[in-house]
Amino acid sequence: MKERIILLVDCQSFYASVEKAAHPEYRDKPLVVAGDPALRSGIILAACPIAKKHGVTAAERLGESLSKCPELIIVKPRMQMYIDVSLKITEIFESFTNLVEPFSIDEQFLDVTNSVGMFGSPTEIAKQIQTAIMLATGVYSRVGISSTKMLAKMACDNYAKKNSEGIYRIDKTKLAKDLWELPIEKMFGVGSRMKKHFFRLGIHSIGDLAQTPLPKLQSLLKTRFGKNADIHAELLWQTANGIDSSLVTPSTHRVAPKSVGHMMTLPRDYATEEEIDTILLGIYIKIDVQKDKKLFKRYRNNVFRRNRNCA
Ligand SMILES: [Mg+2]
Repeated sequence: MKERIILLVDCQSFYASVEKAAHPEYRDKPLVVAGDPALRSGIILAACPIAKKHGVTAAERLGESLSKCPELIIVKPRMQMYIDVSLKITEIFESFTNLVEPFSIDEQFLDVTNSVGMFGSPTEIAKQIQTAIMLATGVYSRVGISSTKMLAKMACDNYAKKNSEGIYRIDKTKLAKDLWELPIEKMFGVGSRMKKHFFRLGIHSIGDLAQTPLPKLQSLLKTRFGKNADIHAELLWQTANGIDSSLVTPSTHRVAPKSVGHMMTLPRDYATEEEIDTILLGIYIKIDVQKDKKLFKRYRNNVFRRNRNCA
């Protein structure tokens, strides 16, 4: 089978960027989208790059942000507008390929394997996409390119988000340079707890993981995952080795708050349900809530706990 060309396109500071496009007067000002601007306890859902330069980060409390940056412009979230812009971006992608898969409200996968002849090299396609999104929405996007979804995602998060072009391609033959030198927590699917676990096992880089023989890794992870250790170990090992056969699957399902809201009731002391859903949709959660309700529930509980911890 011919090697596929997958793109992961991520919108920078999505909600904040959409608001800035709608309010040109705030162009050069630090701006955040926050749960309830009337309350200092509201949660920051998105911060523009200027606000981030002041140390403002997503998911912190508005009061905290204001103490770092008193001149902060605070805007209320308009979820429907963000969803509309996201759908408009999907349409742009669909003019390049029919294989488009939304990953979250501000990230989508594209399989452009069969578009290369028509639109130019993968990098040229990425540039055209960036320009088209900017012209249509005013949002800056970053593009990771590779031969699998996982690698495209890691190309975006680790490189495209940090360089000046906003585009990076991980070549499958250069995994040693582009992937294996990265610290283990830069691998997709490895959070801070997993990182600690790997550190205890002497695995510090993605390369350390890739080069651990799979049967050894499976026995090492037994204490962490119990009877599911074999499956988890294999998935992690495959990711570290750039192996990922999952296809870009166009989905008719659109992530919308309506599909989230009725899933469970949350205590309201720390954040409103809408706030939490908005956070989940845009910042932490990168799953299809319909397909994977259990995982969603777990993420939701995590976000809730996080909020409680910083209260
Ligand atoms: Mg983003």
